Amino acid sequence: MSVSFSELGLSKPVLDAIADQGYETPSPIQAQAIGAVLSGKDVMAAAQTGTGKTGAFALPIVHMLNAHPQRPKPNHVKALILTPTRELAAQVAQSVLLSHKYTNMNSTVAFGGVSINPQLKSLRKGSDVLTATPGRLLDLYSQNAIKFTDLSILVLDEADRMLDMGFIHDLKRIMKLLPTKRQTLLFSATFSDDIRQLAKQFIKDPIEISVTPKNAAATTVEQHIVHVDKSNKSKLLATLIADNKWQQVLVFSRTKHGANRIAKQLNAKGLTSLAIHGNKSQGARTKALSDFKSGNLRVLVATDIAARGIDIDLLPNVVNYDLPHVPEDYVHRIGRTGRAGATGSAVSFVTNEDGKQLKAIQNLIGQHINVLEVAGLSEKPSTQAPIRAPKPKRPKRVKRD
Ligand code: AMP
Repeated sequence: MSVSFSELGLSKPVLDAIADQGYETPSPIQAQAIGAVLSGKDVMAAAQTGTGKTGAFALPIVHMLNAHPQRPKPNHVKALILTPTRELAAQVAQSVLLSHKYTNMNSTVAFGGVSINPQLKSLRKGSDVLTATPGRLLDLYSQNAIKFTDLSILVLDEADRMLDMGFIHDLKRIMKLLPTKRQTLLFSATFSDDIRQLAKQFIKDPIEISVTPKNAAATTVEQHIVHVDKSNKSKLLATLIADNKWQQVLVFSRTKHGANRIAKQLNAKGLTSLAIHGNKSQGARTKALSDFKSGNLRVLVATDIAARGIDIDLLPNVVNYDLPHVPEDYVHRIGRTGRAGATGSAVSFVTNEDGKQLKAIQNLIGQHINVLEVAGLSEKPSTQAPIRAPKPKRPKRVKRD
């Protein structure tokens, strides 16, 4: 039997905000995490994007801060949410804003790639909740725009990706600036050894929560591979979109340059398309994403980092134009589709140079991915290597400094 939001102990302004967002029952991560967060203890939660993880921390944080209604002092921050990317920061900040709309609280967001001045101004009045990317946060701190003495809650969102993106030193610097007496919540797609190492440094006696089996691909996603010659990839993509009448498709490219080229080729075939990646301005990225969400843009081509955390309801199709470098990214990528019980499709293009990568992916997810034949374009499938069951990891030896 599933619990209701009110049974989780959330107050009326939060429940009203939940009703406005159209959520009827807590998602599994919310059902487990909200009570844990409200208990005041540190929390480590394993949950991917699409599980409702943002609400799992935003809703109880609003509840707790609203119970102490003193306004934040100028430049002070009571709760800090750190995210790896600008897009995720914007998305999380939006969710926080919606969650406290029936309170007197205020929240703001700060990320790089845009002018710092509006952020300096917005922080001046003090924030109950600040959502930020690590680099810009440190920048703002060095300009005396943020004070942490009243901080009581820290959230590390998509902690695994923060480590992948090399934010460990920034995180350590930030941690030194925060009061040690605080509640820390860590959300991560997986609890890798690196994450546990990070948690050991910053988290005390946490409640652990997990709603997705480690590295298991979502069962509602139909996965296929197409064996294709490199030179036919572009044609294959256009054919799949047209033949299947896909109206919204997220395409993953390994490189920024490749993403631009794919978008250009699709546009030339009359399929509206834009690329997002780290070299695009924040404005261009935000515009591409909102056009894609509103349905004005049929194809969004993204690199892994740009796509991380993109939240699009019911995104039906994902194409891996290039297989990811890191097999775990395959799971993240296809996690973009098939959400909330809806069925999604993920098609991966495999060239004869990709054998090793495909094998690594199939070993990770513990299954062979079915082959899709596309007349005139797919190649003869090469023989597939047997799947190894994932080996249990040996416990790491503890290093002494
Ligand atoms: P997240 O994993 O936080 O990125 O959330 C994924 C999507 O699920 C977002 O579009 C949310 O608006 C939506 N969502 C979050 N919580 C719920 C809920 N309890 N019921 C229905 N949808 C939800």
